Amino acid sequence: MLMFTFAKRTCDVRGCSDKSSPRHRFPNPHKNPERYQKWLDLVDNPVLKSKDPDLVFRSHRICHIHFKLEDRSTNWFLQKTAVPSLYLPQPKYLRNVCDKK
Ligand SMILES: [Zn+2]
Repeated sequence: MLMFTFAKRTCDVRGCSDKSSPRHRFPNPHKNPERYQKWLDLVDNPVLKSKDPDLVFRSHRICHIHFKLEDRSTNWFLQKTAVPSLYLPQPKYLRNVCDKK
């Protein structure tokens, strides 16, 4: 069974340890520079930010759990406009609120 061999890479969203969901590649940084940048911001992984966009596009993946139902098209594919929106690292302003508990 070759079906799920593509799922073995680790997810590049900071703090995510999912190892079983299908993976999605980043938007093409040449065709969709704005969307690529948006993904990069949301994923908040400093390692990726210092890498060549082509390398990120070719060899980095984020997993399926970060996408809402409406971002998905058929099967495991995403809509062209999809951006990761679930189980993401908390933005700084939210983190500070939590610290004050
Ligand atoms: Zn993930």
